[in-house]
Amino acid sequence: MGGTTCPYCGKSALAWWSKFFYNPLSEGACRVCGEPFTLPWAPAMAAYIPFVLVVLVGFLMVDAYLWAQMLAAGFVASGVVHVVWVPLVKSG
Ligand SMILES: [Zn+2]
Repeated sequence: MGGTTCPYCGKSALAWWSKFFYNPLSEGACRVCGEPFTLPWAPAMAAYIPFVLVVLVGFLMVDAYLWAQMLAAGFVASGVVHVVWVPLVKSG
């Protein structure tokens, strides 16, 4: 999982699932070297695009059940992008 690589020591700074709880406003500490990291704004915002697209598409659709399924899929897609693609960056 490249998205959990520490920007200081290059090791895995946190468990992939715990990255769900981080955003550009939060700060964490690498579990290996203890240095502080955060998430960069632009990629973190870009990760929300799949979810936002699904919400927008939902306004054009009449099938609420299908939309609910797409919403769940979009949420998962954004979560995967967030964890896998958004890098950790040095904080402070
Ligand atoms: Zn580290």
